[in-house]
Amino acid sequence: MIKANKHYSKLNASYLFSDIAKRVSKFQAENPNTKIIRLGIGDVTRALPDACIKGFQQGVAEMANDTTFKGYGPEQGYPFLRDMIAKHDFQARGADIAPDEVFVSDGAKCDTGNFQEIFAQDITIAIPDPVYPVYLDTNVMAGRTGKFIDGRYEGIVYLECTKDNNFLPKLPKNPVDLIYLCFPNNPTGTTITKSELKKWVDYAKETKALILFDAAYEAFIRDDSLPCSIYEIQGAKEVAVEFRSFSKTAGFTGTRCGYTVVPKECMIFDDNGDKISLHALWHRRQSTKFNGVSYPVQKAAEAIYSEEGRIQIKALVSYYLKNAELIRLAMSELGFNFVGGDNSPYIWIDGNGRDSWEFFDMLLKKAGVVCTPGAGFGKCGQGYIRISAFNSRENVEEAMLRMGEALK
Ligand SMILES: *Cc1c(COP(=O)(O)O)cnc(C)c1O
Repeated sequence: MIKANKHYSKLNASYLFSDIAKRVSKFQAENPNTKIIRLGIGDVTRALPDACIKGFQQGVAEMANDTTFKGYGPEQGYPFLRDMIAKHDFQARGADIAPDEVFVSDGAKCDTGNFQEIFAQDITIAIPDPVYPVYLDTNVMAGRTGKFIDGRYEGIVYLECTKDNNFLPKLPKNPVDLIYLCFPNNPTGTTITKSELKKWVDYAKETKALILFDAAYEAFIRDDSLPCSIYEIQGAKEVAVEFRSFSKTAGFTGTRCGYTVVPKECMIFDDNGDKISLHALWHRRQSTKFNGVSYPVQKAAEAIYSEEGRIQIKALVSYYLKNAELIRLAMSELGFNFVGGDNSPYIWIDGNGRDSWEFFDMLLKKAGVVCTPGAGFGKCGQGYIRISAFNSRENVEEAMLRMGEALK
């Protein structure tokens, strides 16, 4: 008899996005003339930059000719892309990362989800609340938690991010082995300073823990004093893995490319406390289970680092940041408390006593605007909504006008 992985049955049936879809389609059916504006989902809306399209097309053209055709590529990515990443994303910011510490992949969701499988079953894991659901759910699937009770999985150390701590998690009181951090944060849009991030690096060094740092939104950082990479913090190479994605940076959500940095200095431990190279383990895992990103996609990603590409990517991110600024302005005028939207595409808005779903329904009914209820990201998200800056300028302006009318 074929049996199911019993841990899957513990998963909190996340009805968040299907619940949203249901409410939106019901509202649309009842109000066929309302043009609904979606500021809910965390997906980009603008086309790939021209430089990337050119790189993509060149890659495709090479596939069309026997002499330039590419079969299986290196599982870790082509050297032309790994070199560009190491040079521009790290060395240029004073972070000494080598090309062979970069593992090119089909995106940060896959990597943040897969990475946990190289750790022992009985480790203690710290996860922020609210949070991007992948970190939590993949550890549930792997059997590292107990049941889901009252909005929380047994066995997980939740790092609460609330207005009392400015949405920055505090160091855990009891020892943990693995820590997930994400800055600029999804869903709260908050950033972390170098001195705050250094506390986590120092903690991990002292306690022999490991930090998994998700920097999917680093391109939105415009305040140069903020760290784009955890490797800008001294000592981080020994205790941190960093995930990056071209999805939000360059509009690659449907094209699929990202990468993970695993420094060679980074060590984990066996049952006797002897050191094991994390780089070697991840290399082995990827070589066994992953066959690389398609060549044309890696050519498209390489073009991000060309002179032309860098200018275009900056303009693309600036476009969304301008949307975020318009949303911040509108929320300030309406008297809401919020964080994010500054060095981030997300604005996290305090419903001022309203339940998340109540706030969501009100915005849908009165303004025809879709947001994301904060409660869908964890217990600490209750009472908040997330508004995303990923949309056209016209739609964002229209949405803010309508919200102004609705909430006056
Ligand atoms: C969008 C997002 C990612 C990127 O996912 P991809 O699989 O690269 O598209 C990673 N982490 C967070 C927090 C995100 O919001």
